[in-house]
Amino acid sequence: MPKEYDLVVIGGGIGGYSGAIKAAKEGLNVALVERDLVGGTCLNRGCIPTKAYLKSAQAIREFKNISEFGIETDAEYQVDFLKIKQRKDKIVSNLRNGVAALIKMNKIDYFQGEGSVLGTSIFTPKSGSVMIKPEGDADEIILTPKNVLIATGSRPASLPNINVDEINILSSNGILELETLPKSITIIGGGVIGVEWASLLKWMGVKVTIVEFQDRLIVNESKKISSQLKAEFEKQGINLLLSTKVESVEVSDGETKIIADKAGEKTEIKSEKILVAVGRRPNIENIGLEASGVEYGKRGIKVNEFFQTSAENIYAVGDVIPTLQLAHVAAAESEIAVEKILEHDVTPLKYDNIPRGVYTYPEIASVGITDGTNGHEVKADHGQFDFKFNGKSMIMGESIGQIEVFADKDNDDLIGVSIVGPHATDLISEPALGIYLNATPQEIGETVHPHPSLSEVIMEAARDINGNSLNK
Ligand code: NAD
Repeated sequence: MPKEYDLVVIGGGIGGYSGAIKAAKEGLNVALVERDLVGGTCLNRGCIPTKAYLKSAQAIREFKNISEFGIETDAEYQVDFLKIKQRKDKIVSNLRNGVAALIKMNKIDYFQGEGSVLGTSIFTPKSGSVMIKPEGDADEIILTPKNVLIATGSRPASLPNINVDEINILSSNGILELETLPKSITIIGGGVIGVEWASLLKWMGVKVTIVEFQDRLIVNESKKISSQLKAEFEKQGINLLLSTKVESVEVSDGETKIIADKAGEKTEIKSEKILVAVGRRPNIENIGLEASGVEYGKRGIKVNEFFQTSAENIYAVGDVIPTLQLAHVAAAESEIAVEKILEHDVTPLKYDNIPRGVYTYPEIASVGITDGTNGHEVKADHGQFDFKFNGKSMIMGESIGQIEVFADKDNDDLIGVSIVGPHATDLISEPALGIYLNATPQEIGETVHPHPSLSEVIMEAARDINGNSLNK
């Protein structure tokens, strides 16, 4: 007899395990199916491991600047990349064990294997039974849930004429397995993944080139932020080839050669390794979407505002649907899907106060509207404040960057904030809360912030929108 569940979740990444844990805490009988490592992309091959590497890059930067803090040393430093990788692997496995413990603690039945949704049959009149193919020769398992949550995530995309062999030409998965640093690397794609890797590898002593098809880096951020990052990267010695399209790649004698097109002229770029960072594709194959009547397109599974697919009892969240491909978005979406399953009153997720972070040096973060689109008219006098006037960032020796605050022209509500500078990815939470609570910049400016702290830049920029900053 197939085992019955209130909810079966396919995919054990942050979207899947967050949904499973929430549902179990609410008293539902839950199973979770994962074919690979619990924790998914963010924990195992994305956010966490890359940020662990970035911490080592930061340590190098601080060592190089140590004399600024009155500490003199003739010591040389060596980058022991294997040790850096081992540290990263330990952090990842600790966190993975933590997620596994939460799954157990919440009495979620965990199945290791490939899950797919089945269509209707004489045994399963409603579509949505889940078949699990375990690894090896073990028999298939069928679960019959009342609801299914698909959270199968995404995988790195490639280009049609490039064979990602994970030896010379790497994806964002393969690069995490390197045990030695290459002398040089060319990164195809100047999106978030491309710039984060460029930043950390450069500080570790690798010669880095970015080839980007568009005329600027991180096109999803404002033009101002792109040009600031470009200037900083050039200062750090990262070679940037913008408006340049990679056409083909050759590998010979352990060296790679890219043939690219820049305004009709052919360019060749040689390096030891290549990282392909040209976006991610939703994992929609072999999970039974056709059989169960779940509609999907090239960008992923189609869902309504409660993450229900075209098959009512099947939900989908995270990178497998066409919303922002961010870990915290997947987690938030899965909570709403579970609320809907529980038939609670549900408010759809507001995407306009979701913070975005880019973990480069300098860090970048933004929330909401920072360029006057999406039907809002941005107040012409946006607020601005430079980190170079902030005491705490001077103390830290990191006073590059600035914050910009945008308000709605009609009702004065805070609608967007962008930050380039130290701890931008932490600082952005306050403006995100401000937008969520419909705060105005004036209210944020009137809120007393601790001194000295980096958060004072938010208060100063918020006050600046009405010309009230006392420190500029
Ligand atoms: P992306 O879409 O952000 O950037 C890919 C870039 O590759 C684009 O700028 C594109 O113009 C360029 N490109 C495509 N074809 C090219 C060609 N032939 N030659 C040169 N350039 C070419 O994708 P990504 O950086 O791979 O990131 C994937 C997803 O993962 C994104 O949605 C991102 O938000 C998410 N992510 C987020 C974080 C974070 O929040 N810190 C970190 C990593 C990844």
